[in-house]
Amino acid sequence: MAVSSSLSATGVRWDLSDLEPDAEQARRDWDDLLARARDFAERRRGTVGAAGAEGLRELLDELDELTQDISRVHFYATAREHTDATDSETNDLATLARDRAADLESLLLFVELEWLALEDAEADALLEAAELEPYRHRLRVAREEKPYVLPEGEEQALNARRPAISAWESLHGRQLATLTVEFDGGDGPEPHTIDRLLSYVHHPDRELRLAALAVLYGALEGVADVQAACYDALVGDRLSIDRLRGIPDPMWPTNQRNELDGDVVEAMMRAIEEHYLLGRRWFVRKAEVLGLDRLQLADQYAPVGSDRRVEWTEAVAMVDDSLRDFDPRLGDIFRTCVDRGHVDAEPRPGKVGGAYCNSVSKTVFPFVLLNYTDQLRDVVTLAHEFGHAVHGTLSLERQAYRSYHTGLALAEVPSTFAQLLAVERLIDLEEDPATRVMLLADRAEGAMASIFRQTMMARFEGHAYAARGEGKALTSERLSGMWIEENERYYDDSIQLPDGYRLGWSYIPHFIHVRFYTYAYAFAHLVAFSLAARYREDPERFAPAYLEFLASGASRSPQELLAPLGVDLRDPQTWAHAFAEFDRCVTEAEAGVDELDAA
Ligand SMILES: [Zn+2]
Repeated sequence: MAVSSSLSATGVRWDLSDLEPDAEQARRDWDDLLARARDFAERRRGTVGAAGAEGLRELLDELDELTQDISRVHFYATAREHTDATDSETNDLATLARDRAADLESLLLFVELEWLALEDAEADALLEAAELEPYRHRLRVAREEKPYVLPEGEEQALNARRPAISAWESLHGRQLATLTVEFDGGDGPEPHTIDRLLSYVHHPDRELRLAALAVLYGALEGVADVQAACYDALVGDRLSIDRLRGIPDPMWPTNQRNELDGDVVEAMMRAIEEHYLLGRRWFVRKAEVLGLDRLQLADQYAPVGSDRRVEWTEAVAMVDDSLRDFDPRLGDIFRTCVDRGHVDAEPRPGKVGGAYCNSVSKTVFPFVLLNYTDQLRDVVTLAHEFGHAVHGTLSLERQAYRSYHTGLALAEVPSTFAQLLAVERLIDLEEDPATRVMLLADRAEGAMASIFRQTMMARFEGHAYAARGEGKALTSERLSGMWIEENERYYDDSIQLPDGYRLGWSYIPHFIHVRFYTYAYAFAHLVAFSLAARYREDPERFAPAYLEFLASGASRSPQELLAPLGVDLRDPQTWAHAFAEFDRCVTEAEAGVDELDAA
């Protein structure tokens, strides 16, 4: 990523004073939190089942306060680490935060375990009690793990192994983060990170795109064996813990966290695979637009039309308008976060890449990080992160802290929806035809990346877990074979895959951190497509129901939360409705390039 002081978001940095005044106070707060947790554990241990509904409510309220304070103090350390990684005070604080967070987790683990230890009849009686309403759904979902939970001592022993397991994750991440190769991007040879090499896929110069990917794959050759060893160790470990717990399906832990039935996920993935043709249709058209017989992988995201620069203040106004147009309260939340210094948009050395939102607690407005480089695409990222922020804010207003945060799949729905609204608005208001075409193509290709590619990745993982489960080692060669096979199922002959791309699996962090994470993006994008179509059809009716959905947080299941919005996850027609909207986006992109051709 280019970092230049001429970028318009220069100086747009977080003000962390809503979290902590300084590191010294944060250190004192960690000590205080540890003391509070010890006191809580001394008083409450052994009482979860015997407290009765009222007592359990008090216990959970107290725990809710404590975990919110942990979240605030923890995020202060994370926020500093993510924006100023080279500072020694920051590094010490981050180390302290990791140690303290693990200690606190162990101290507080008994609440979940005692809740799970209850007999079904006892738990069901408590779940009926009015006092426990704010926690009811989360408590019920937690019980689903009961058959797979081990005695407390064994759980603690498993917890204690965590640093050793995360060492594999760290090794994987560090190898990628420190991998730099000389590349000439037009200003002479310079060391390039993987992210920077990958960013050339959006470059208008084809030679540069092809060269950047070739250099990337060459560099991956040197690390692929170690990356495969890390993945093999992690998958092997997860499967052996699954066997200890008696978990039959490697996807179960992710599905359970997403509160989605395996059948619903499988039906969605099948529907997606049946629509791979939609992607291929666009790639064939795009090859024509670029004057090629066939796209190479490096051309997949090549710019179509043209991009204009957008100053930070203009981006803020656009996202504000887009959210406010839906409902003024969403615009107010956005403005409050911007005005209070809760947005860090300036790219700079020592800051992490990417973008995220952290909805800290019931008393602190969300914090958003992104790297704003004056591209239209960055405006879309800003809208996406504020989809998370308004969801977090509205659900934390209404729900207990424990009941606000949904699983990954549902969590990406409001962000993707906010992103779709912002893009629709940008397209409608754009006067320059070439920029309009760029936005149309980017919207269609973004949907392909999250719906098709992420599903393809989840299938790849399915093969890896199956092979490892049969006692086959996940070597670089075996993973490469599976990777190419799934990629060919998607692209078929619409895109030519270079030989080096067989190592494309080796730099995907999701595989390492959360198994089967990637289907969440596909789910969210499809659901958001469906919601966007319903909003367009009847905005008056849709908007209040959607605000209610946002405020409901994780107090009900995705099925129950989405049904009032017209999305029934068990109905196959739901995916057909979403694909009609997806098709509309691709068709509009095709019409856009046709017009540009004719002009
Ligand atoms: Zn997101």
